[in-house]
Amino acid sequence: MTTDYASLLAGVHTDLWIDGNWCLPHSGERFEVIDPATERPITTVASASSEDCRAALDAAERGLETWSRKSPRERGEALRKAWELMMREHERLARIITLENGKSLSDARGEVAYAAEFFRWNAEEAVRICGRISHAPQSGARIMVHHKPAGIALLVTPWNFPAAMATRKIGPALAAGCSVVIKPASATPLTMLALVPLLAEAGVPPGVVNVVPSRRSRQVVADMLADLRVRVVSFTGSTEVGRALISEAAHNVVRPCMELGGNAPFIVLDDADLDAAVEGAMIAKMRNMGEACTAANRFYVHQSLLAEFSEKFAARMGALKTGNGLSEGVSVGPLIDAAARERVASLVADAVRRGARLLTGGRAPTGPGFFYLPTVLTDVAADAAVVRDEIFGPVAAIQAFRTDEEVVRLANACEFGLTAYVFSRDLSRGLQLSERLEVGMVGLNRGLVSDPAAPFGGVKLSGLGREGGSEGIQEYLETQYIAVRW
Ligand code: NAD
Repeated sequence: MTTDYASLLAGVHTDLWIDGNWCLPHSGERFEVIDPATERPITTVASASSEDCRAALDAAERGLETWSRKSPRERGEALRKAWELMMREHERLARIITLENGKSLSDARGEVAYAAEFFRWNAEEAVRICGRISHAPQSGARIMVHHKPAGIALLVTPWNFPAAMATRKIGPALAAGCSVVIKPASATPLTMLALVPLLAEAGVPPGVVNVVPSRRSRQVVADMLADLRVRVVSFTGSTEVGRALISEAAHNVVRPCMELGGNAPFIVLDDADLDAAVEGAMIAKMRNMGEACTAANRFYVHQSLLAEFSEKFAARMGALKTGNGLSEGVSVGPLIDAAARERVASLVADAVRRGARLLTGGRAPTGPGFFYLPTVLTDVAADAAVVRDEIFGPVAAIQAFRTDEEVVRLANACEFGLTAYVFSRDLSRGLQLSERLEVGMVGLNRGLVSDPAAPFGGVKLSGLGREGGSEGIQEYLETQYIAVRW
């Protein structure tokens, strides 16, 4: 198929969005955005310099002044309107996501609805920011506790969910009364550029939301973190970069909210409903072609179910249609770039070298496009790289286990702790096992945990803080206590 980039991008601006205006970058620098399905450039986008980012912070400072004084209801109504506008633009936004990220249209449509929901959910949270008042035990004074917007938030987002990872941060930040500067991933800046005018249309004043794509991410983010006006840094991406940002944030004691890498175990106990487990595995593995931090990475299947589970799962994986995500009926699009495909191919090669059996896939189809076929490996060695590393691709690595004790030990023997999946017909056994897992989120008889109404986040090297639920807004609030006598 030939993709008509101009019509898919009709109305999308590709400059910097600062203070409610499209601005040219000071340096005049631009960078290409590549279509991962064809390897062709889609368009170019303005690259912000540190000077542009300073202008964005100046705008955010003015934006904070206006926005933090709005009533919670006004803020909530703008967010609610933003949800409506995103749903109005649902199909257009989904196509832009597919274009630059590669995911299938059905995944992209799901992402737009999920992303928009962070605006609706936080519209409701905006009016429920509660403080408290109590008697000081001894002095006779009152202890009054209330919450204020934390200040300017710097939001740095990844390429795998270009809409949802942004709205999951913008929604609570705006509900709390903060202003923001967003640095979208360089591989996928177009979605955010398409989205931001909707916030303006919804009534969010100039300066409250600023967008600065940049090919110099490291420099511009470091420079913004060195500016005392930034009080929160919310980052979603790799643990490696997250770690660097935490240490940069330390200098000005900026609050870090970090959603980092994962390596989710997918556990099928001997009493699991096998068909439900296979269905759950398809969702947990293949949403977003496996390019999700919540993606099932290590499959632990009870010895008694191993053969049947592997066979059914491999048949489902092998039947998925791979192709350009913009074509209806395709469920597996390309990976984000050539390096991502190389990584996935080398993980599979390493596993096979260590004795794994390939049940389906295991190769890249002929190009163009960064495609890799859905792959299932069984008899995978415990020390294979595919088990230790986050795969971030459509590859499932299955190992057998015999006892609950053993599987808990295997699942927890990992530096990451974002998500785990457990399948069992016995809810009590499943819950007890879930509680023992060192992760922030568990899908119990479910292959999907993400929900704007639930606290998303991890433990260990998977992150700090939570997004969504009633917890998400807390990252953008400061607590103030007033000792008062009356
Ligand atoms: P990445 O860390 O390479 O990039 C994330 C963002 O940081 C991008 O905007 C990038 O331009 C920017 N960046 C890169 N280097 C930087 C630096 N030195 N200083 C400042 N900014 C920098 O991650 P990615 O490849 O875009 O995303 C994949 C990773 O994200 C995976 O590890 C995945 O697990 C993780 N992820 C986590 C969650 C979660 O909620 N826990 C969600 C999605 C993705």
